[in-house]
Amino acid sequence: MHLTAVGQAPLASPPQSQTQPALKNLFGLGRGELVSLCAAMGEPPYRARQISSWLYRRRARALEAMTDLGREVRARLAEAWTVRWPSIVERRESHDGTLKYLLALDDGATIECVLIPETRRRTLCLSTQVGCALRCAFCLTGLAGYRRNLTCAEILGQAAVLMADAPASDKPCNVVIMGMGEPLLNVDATLAALRLLMDADGFGIPPRRVTLSTVGILPGLERLIAEPRRPNLAVSLHAARPELRRRLVPIEAKYPLDEVIALARRYSPPAGGRVTFEYVLLRGVNDTPSDARALVRRLGDLRAKVNLIPLNAAPGIPFEPPTDDAVDAFARILSDARLTVSVRKPRGQDVLAACGQLHLDPAGNPSPHAS
Ligand code: SAH
Repeated sequence: MHLTAVGQAPLASPPQSQTQPALKNLFGLGRGELVSLCAAMGEPPYRARQISSWLYRRRARALEAMTDLGREVRARLAEAWTVRWPSIVERRESHDGTLKYLLALDDGATIECVLIPETRRRTLCLSTQVGCALRCAFCLTGLAGYRRNLTCAEILGQAAVLMADAPASDKPCNVVIMGMGEPLLNVDATLAALRLLMDADGFGIPPRRVTLSTVGILPGLERLIAEPRRPNLAVSLHAARPELRRRLVPIEAKYPLDEVIALARRYSPPAGGRVTFEYVLLRGVNDTPSDARALVRRLGDLRAKVNLIPLNAAPGIPFEPPTDDAVDAFARILSDARLTVSVRKPRGQDVLAACGQLHLDPAGNPSPHAS
C-alpha cells in the first residue's frame, strides 16, 4: 500500500473555497436551474448549455476558464457564483491499483470514493451520504452511523475530482453509486446527479455504464422507475428468507424482500444494461446450498443476474468470508437454475476501499464525523 498523506492541506481545493465562502456553487446546478439563472441575467438560453458543458463535460475549475461566455458575462457570474469541488484530503493506493480518496466537503464532513482502474475501463464508485443509516450487519459504513445527505454538487464533485486526478486515459468510464450511504434515501440529490452524469450536455456517460445500488427503498425505487433515463439497477438482497434478511439488512422490516423483488421486476434497464441482485456471502450464515435454493425460488422465473460478493472482512464485522468451495457450490446451484451468476472480485481490500469498507479515518477507525 502506498499512502499519499497530505495532512491538512487539500490537494485539489480551488482557492475560492477559502477566500469567498459566501459565493454559491455553480457546479451541481441542473439544466433547468442554469436556464433560469441565464434568464435572470438576461442571457439567452444557449448560455445554459455552454455553462453546462464547461462544468460537466470539460470540467473547468473556474469561471475564468469559460472563455466563450465573454468577459462581461463571466464577471457578472463571478459576483455571486463560483465553481467548487470537494477537496482531496488523502489518497491511498492499493496493491491492485485501486485508489481510495478521502474528500472534505464545505462543512468539514468527509466522504470516501474509489477509483478502480481495470483493463478495459475505469470505474468510479461514488457516495451519496455522509455515513449510512441502514446498519446492515456486515457493512462498516453502517457501523459509523449516519450524518447527512450529500448534495447533487457533492455527489457529482466526487466524479469530477476522480476524473481530474486519474492519469489521462481514453478508457471508458463506468460509474457505480455503491459508496457510502443509501442513494434512494437521498433520492432528490441522487436523481439530479444521475441526470447530469448521463446527460449529453452533462458528463455524457451512457446509462448502461452507470449502476445504482440500493437495498430497495420502495418509494425511491418508484421515483427511479419514473425517470425517463435510468441507469442499471443493482438490488442488495443478501438473504432469500425474510427472517434472515431482517437480521442482516434491518430495513427489511420496512421494505420486504418480495415487494422489493416485485418492483425490481418492473424496472426497465437501459439498452444494453441489466438488473442485478447482489448477495454478500457470509460463512455459515447465508452461504449454504439451502440458501442458494431459497434464492432460486424467491427469484422464480425472473431471468436475473446475481452478483455474489464474498464478504470483505474488516475489524468490527462479526462475520467471516465464505470458503471457495461454498462460493462455487452456491454459484452452481444458481447457474443450474438458469440465473446468470458472477462472483465479485474484491478490489482495494488492503486499503479498506472494497465494498462495505468505506468511511474510515486514515488509521482505519470508523470516522468520528459519523458517530
Ligand atoms: N446502500 C446501497 C449502496 C451501497 S452499495 C446498497 O446497500 O446497495 C455497497 C454494496 O456492497 C452493497 O451491495 C453492500 O451490501 C455491499 N457490502 C457492504 N458491506 C460489505 C462487505 N463487508 N463485504 C462485501 N460487500 C459488502
